[in-house]
Amino acid sequence: MADNPTYDALHKQVQELEQALAEHEKSNREFDHLFFMALDLICIADIHTTAFIKVNPACREILKFSQEELIGQPFFDFIHPDDIAPTRQVVEKKLQQGEKIINFENRYICKDGTYKWLSWVSHPSPEKGVTYAIARDITKEKKAEKALQESERRYRSLYENAQAGLARTRISDGRVLECNKKMAQIFGYDDVQTFIKAYVLSENYADKAQREAFITELGNTGKIRNQEAAFFRKDGSKIWVRFDTRLVPEHGYMEDVVIDITDQKKAIEERSQLQSQLLQAQKMESVGRLAGGVAHDFNNMLTVIIGYTQTALGQVDPAGKLHKNLQGVLKAASRSADLTKQLLAFARKQIIDPRVLDLNHTVETMLKMLRRLIGEDIHLLWRPAGKLQSVKMDPSQIDQILANLCVNAKDAIAGVGKITIETGMKTFDTEYCRKNPGFSPGEFVLLAVSDDGCGMDKETLNNLFEPFFTTKDVGQGTGLGLATIYGIVKQNNGFIKVYSEPDYGSTFHIYLPCHAEKMEKKSKPKPKAIPAGNGETILIVEDEKTILEMLTTMLQDLHYTILAAPTPHKAMALAQKHAGKIHLLLTDVVMPEMNGRDLAAQLASVYPELKFLFMSGYTANVIAHQGVLDEGVQFIQKPFSMKDIAVKIQNILEGADDNDFKNHTELIKEK
Ligand code: ADP
Ligand code: MG
Repeated sequence: MADNPTYDALHKQVQELEQALAEHEKSNREFDHLFFMALDLICIADIHTTAFIKVNPACREILKFSQEELIGQPFFDFIHPDDIAPTRQVVEKKLQQGEKIINFENRYICKDGTYKWLSWVSHPSPEKGVTYAIARDITKEKKAEKALQESERRYRSLYENAQAGLARTRISDGRVLECNKKMAQIFGYDDVQTFIKAYVLSENYADKAQREAFITELGNTGKIRNQEAAFFRKDGSKIWVRFDTRLVPEHGYMEDVVIDITDQKKAIEERSQLQSQLLQAQKMESVGRLAGGVAHDFNNMLTVIIGYTQTALGQVDPAGKLHKNLQGVLKAASRSADLTKQLLAFARKQIIDPRVLDLNHTVETMLKMLRRLIGEDIHLLWRPAGKLQSVKMDPSQIDQILANLCVNAKDAIAGVGKITIETGMKTFDTEYCRKNPGFSPGEFVLLAVSDDGCGMDKETLNNLFEPFFTTKDVGQGTGLGLATIYGIVKQNNGFIKVYSEPDYGSTFHIYLPCHAEKMEKKSKPKPKAIPAGNGETILIVEDEKTILEMLTTMLQDLHYTILAAPTPHKAMALAQKHAGKIHLLLTDVVMPEMNGRDLAAQLASVYPELKFLFMSGYTANVIAHQGVLDEGVQFIQKPFSMKDIAVKIQNILEGADDNDFKNHTELIKEK
């Protein structure tokens, strides 16, 4: 048989077959080995019914289902509802057409109801009607990816919606590489891309030197923290920002965080301005009170000094030495009286007699005097407004204002120069008044005086209206001029604004409230000589003994009959005892027992013919309100000269000045 070639061939064939089978079995075993070992899901499925034909044990690890539970089931039963449609597309369009798929991802349900992400590689074999597939569990990666996307989304939202400007800028040229919307908005742009293209931060510093300092600091420390800087926006307006910058040299850029603090800055500035204005106002108020208080006593003394001196002057030989000496006393007393008058004006304690005035007309009547005051080297320009409403004011106060301003202007001009006086109308709205404390809304008449003199520095401007503030030499200035103006303007509910810079002259704007009424007639000129009486009886009531004695002497010298009383009660007793007529009551206003007005009211009811003259060195609300005299009330401010009081008394007795105080008392009684 050994020689049988057929047998040999067959034997060989069988051997070969056996070997092949053994090899095949070996390879099958190896394959099975791999199939069992694999951690990925390996399966064979029908491409038409989609039923699992064979599944490796990894299915239990991944999906928690056993092989038996899967085999025979269509894989579509295990796919996440949202993934069914895309999977079906892949199966129909690719697998069933014999096309391989790689890295197709979908979700499979697990036995515990959760889902896992699988990434598929699948090789179909259409002729066999099956596909061989391996799926890897990528759930962890998917979760990580999703978490990353989520965190990216959150950071982006933070970045996009931040109320701070965030940007990366190139170190080499300072150009913005990327930024959020707020950054663009801060610098005046609606659109980020336009901003990035058009705006260069480094070119828009308001203060170029500041930029240099920042660059140095960045170079030294690699960062800038909490710095403030001003920039010009797209429209050229200035904004303030606070920013942080950090160099990231490895990427060639800087990271910037920018906050717009313009409003904050403005508010702080406004607040500190208001505060200093308030402080200033308080200071003026207290100095005013002090000055007013001193002026009161001072005026009483001056009344006595002036009164006695004038009386004495009449009693001595005009050619003698004593006469000259007394004149010296009188001159000094008059100058002191001028000073207290200014102090009272500043303290708003000056008693005034307001009239309705046309400011243009009032200024015009003064021009001649003002020209004399400022001399020939200075040109005085007068620019009246065409249409001007009237103001209600004591004309002598306008005189005080203009004289003081013009003297100051003259002092500020060394040699030749120009002073301009202007009038005009001005309306203030509530917004303006909010920013300018002390101003109130409404229509105002403007009186402006400007000069081209030396101007003022900040220090001077800050103290300008304080009494006794002067930059002039001793004997040259008292520092009371502007304090007086301040008081006068305040007393009349007006405002002052000053504009000045060293070497560029000064402008004073005085705003006085408009008055609706028609103009009043002018007061009559004062007589020149000291008028005397005709034996008329005057009842003087004054608690200051020296003044009472002085007035008695002085008025007796002027041929009046005097009843002198140191108190209101004694005055009433005197009046009762007096048999004849009493023509005039001359009374102090503020007295211990009873004020002058009440005394006058009581006497008026008994003596209907009686006339009244009040005197005081101080505003007394009894006869004046906020320093403004009640109509028809006759008043004389202490200290007064002999002539002042003589003229006043004569006018009252002759009936030239209204003296309808009685009407007032009646009105008061009716109330
Ligand atoms: P006085 O004139 O007695 O010094 P004022 O109250 O009138 O007092 O003025 C105070 C100070 O204000 C002056 O000393 C001067 O320094 C300054 N001043 C006032 N007006 C002007 C002006 N037109 N130009 C420059 N400085 C002025
Ligand atoms: Mg002055």
